[in-house]
Amino acid sequence: MKVAVFGTKSYDRKYLDQANNEFNHELTYFDAHLNVTIAPLAKGFEAVCVFVNDEIDESCLRKLSDLGITIIALRCAGFNNVDLSVAASLNITVVRVPEYSPHGVAEHAVALILALNRKIYRAYNRVRENNFLLEGLLGFNLNTKIIGVIGTGKIGSVFCKIMSGFGCMVLAYDPCPNERCAAYGIKYTDLENLLKQSDIISLHCPLTPETYHLIDDKALAYMKTNVMLINTSRGALIDTVAVIKNLKSGKIGYLGLDVYEEEGDLFFEDVSDKILEDDIFARLLTFPNVLITGHQAFFTITALENIAMTTLSNLTDLEQGKHCPNKVSDQLIQVARKK
Ligand code: NAD
Repeated sequence: MKVAVFGTKSYDRKYLDQANNEFNHELTYFDAHLNVTIAPLAKGFEAVCVFVNDEIDESCLRKLSDLGITIIALRCAGFNNVDLSVAASLNITVVRVPEYSPHGVAEHAVALILALNRKIYRAYNRVRENNFLLEGLLGFNLNTKIIGVIGTGKIGSVFCKIMSGFGCMVLAYDPCPNERCAAYGIKYTDLENLLKQSDIISLHCPLTPETYHLIDDKALAYMKTNVMLINTSRGALIDTVAVIKNLKSGKIGYLGLDVYEEEGDLFFEDVSDKILEDDIFARLLTFPNVLITGHQAFFTITALENIAMTTLSNLTDLEQGKHCPNKVSDQLIQVARKK
């Protein structure tokens, strides 16, 4: 199949080319993210392949449909950047990679917790300057701490298991509890109780209209003073302005982010020679107790191999008219239609 692959970096191309030895699709790579302006580049292709920060909104979809595109292959699990309802009405099939490495993302959330708690990023810089003072580096034992996990699907359940291994007590909130978590001794509770009880709160639910700004002023008010908040899911789960207010007041003691609600203009690019125009992001960077990574939680060899294999296999299934298990289901499209 002739596929226009957008938003690609050298590592995407490497793993897609490697996997394509098995599939033989005609892949054409573009650096640019797909959006309505870039969409004309898809002329002459049968499918487009995109990632998390491509903007597949109504206008982009209409343009793609006019160009004869019938397939959108997401190289990620989340599909919040595609207007599913419009895609369905234009008979555009959307496929995704529902699972590529839950361990990779869960482990990155744990890395943020450990680095923030033991101030590894500050210690690293100090030691390089021959400063071996310990003041300001005091941490706490994770053992016996209460961890609140919001969303216990593939990633959240692995995260629960790892944190149980540290001897933490894990509380979880999920409208669809996961049976696997019971085996790790996880206790489900309501969201309000989780927010009130937890020393560390980690977000592992998808971004939907219901979860947009799940962590807002009201949710923050329930939390313990000095709470640690970790977000490796999607930036807009958190109201960043409310979080900054709570960092300033000392209510939030630690903030670890791998995602940011306006990350589309920043992440995955080197903008080090440009003026940072996002004042909210700039303010976040000034706090000594905030650790931000640029959407790299997924970025492991296992994940890139799995993303490439599943994406190309999805395209082959559709090309051969077979059932594709990773098609974004009609049920999800119905939910999108109701919103
Ligand atoms: P999943 O679908 O397996 O699990 C999501 C869970 O969230 C489900 O159990 C669902 O019931 C639950 N949920 C839905 N609405 C909820 C709500 N309002 N409150 C609490 N829980 C709710 O998804 P997953 O594979 O575990 O991925 C979780 C999220 O992680 C994805 O949606 C994506 O946004 C993010 N992600 C980030 C990266 C990264 O590199 N940072 C990589 C992969 C995925």
